[in-house]
Amino acid sequence: MRILMVSAEAAPFAKTGGLADAVSALSIALSKLGHDVRIVMPRYYKIDRAKLTKLEGPMGVPCGYTEEWTAVYTTNMPGTEKLPVYFIDNEKCFGRDGVYGVPSDPDFSDNPFRFSLLCNGAFQLCRKLDWYPDIIHAHDWSAALAPVLLRFNERHGGFAHTASVFTIHNLGYQGVYSKHSYPLLGIDWQHFYSAGFEDYDRINFLKSGLISSDVLTTVSPTYAREIQTPEGGFGLDGILRSRSGDLRGILNGVDTEVWNPSKDTCIPKTYTARTVASGKAANKKALQEQMGLEVNPDIPLFGIVTRLVDQKGIAELFAPTYGSTYSMCANMRMQMVVLGSGESWCENELRTLNNSLSNFCAYIGYNEKLSHLIEAGSDFFLMPSHYEPCGLNQMYSLLYGTLPIVRRTGGLADTVQNYNEATGEGTGFILDYLSPNSLYDTVGWAVYAWYNKKDHIAQMRKRAMAQNFGWDVSAKQYVDLYESVLKRFN
Ligand code: ADP
Repeated sequence: MRILMVSAEAAPFAKTGGLADAVSALSIALSKLGHDVRIVMPRYYKIDRAKLTKLEGPMGVPCGYTEEWTAVYTTNMPGTEKLPVYFIDNEKCFGRDGVYGVPSDPDFSDNPFRFSLLCNGAFQLCRKLDWYPDIIHAHDWSAALAPVLLRFNERHGGFAHTASVFTIHNLGYQGVYSKHSYPLLGIDWQHFYSAGFEDYDRINFLKSGLISSDVLTTVSPTYAREIQTPEGGFGLDGILRSRSGDLRGILNGVDTEVWNPSKDTCIPKTYTARTVASGKAANKKALQEQMGLEVNPDIPLFGIVTRLVDQKGIAELFAPTYGSTYSMCANMRMQMVVLGSGESWCENELRTLNNSLSNFCAYIGYNEKLSHLIEAGSDFFLMPSHYEPCGLNQMYSLLYGTLPIVRRTGGLADTVQNYNEATGEGTGFILDYLSPNSLYDTVGWAVYAWYNKKDHIAQMRKRAMAQNFGWDVSAKQYVDLYESVLKRFN
């Protein structure tokens, strides 16, 4: 199959979150299965042109009432031989820092035009290359216009048999803008309603993708169910329910070249399931030393690596109420390390906790190397998100034999099995209702198991490490989906 990925981000070229990793890793896995996969994305200012090859000639891209001239650059996805990435180059739209915005302006006001250029440009690019995909696979709101254009403007000529797949990586980000931008999208006003743009008299990119795409996916089976409920639907649950027959949840994979305790170059001692006890002990010692905690193998160490945003349950974890981190660390014989950055109130709370608890240490900032050491050196990993489309850290934790403590939601519910104290089964600890109190109790349960059920902890570690979260598993499910949707057009 010929598959075109349309995305605002792809690792390692531009990344603001898990979307970039997922797009690249899925593309690589599909390419390894023998498919002709190509990625199209913007050439942001930070992507060095000198390392890319320029396609001959300019490319004019009609965007509604205007036409924008672009250049196209290309290179191969690193580590592959036949996975081209195409970059749409346009100074006005992408010649600046930031993918969607910058800290002082997190959502550029011309984003409708910028991502219209990306999506309209994707079709022009295919014509320029004389390469027409069987599948256009668009990711998140910023690429949502691609399936809309396919359905209303483009399904003829080379695209007559092309099908669209749209993946929701996080329903919380929808791309909602004034409808004054609509004429820049290249969709006739007569489709304003039928394409699904209208959202309380504004335009909603994600909504248009949900309505116009041939099939929809999201990044875990449980999240696929949750987004069809009023609680998890961010206002779009009705639409998602109406499309439930076309919506599939496919779990993201993990890059096991990077996140693999047997060959991780960021940790002092690599290990496998067979050597987990000694391997984790060495990493725990290093982590305790680095974070200035008492070096003691007997005290259970809880790790957290997260963006400090509400979605991740930071209020329940760190706000100074009974049950949250202060009470846990003050009342239980345990240690906690936190790596994160984000909301300033939370960073301040973490500084206060640093000053008031000797068994707690937070590192505020982004630190890739430390994130690996926390996964390898902790005994438990806390990730009590309010919602989690897929989540990566709980999967890293399982692969590193670090038992996750999670809320039963989205990808967390799909990847962690709750501890059964009677039999020793399970791979982690699950809570249903998120509150400081329930967190305190669940952490207490893990602390109890640590001190009193050592054999269960050892069994759970081995079971956790035996899970397979490779992208090859997910890629095969996408192939099945592509094949089934293509039948509608051929
Ligand atoms: P989300 O994409 O919602 O942030 P995920 O669990 O899917 O959550 O992915 C988060 C990724 O970002 C993980 O790879 C995690 O290790 C990494 N990460 C988050 N915060 C930090 C940080 N402060 N330092 C290093 N890595 C971080």
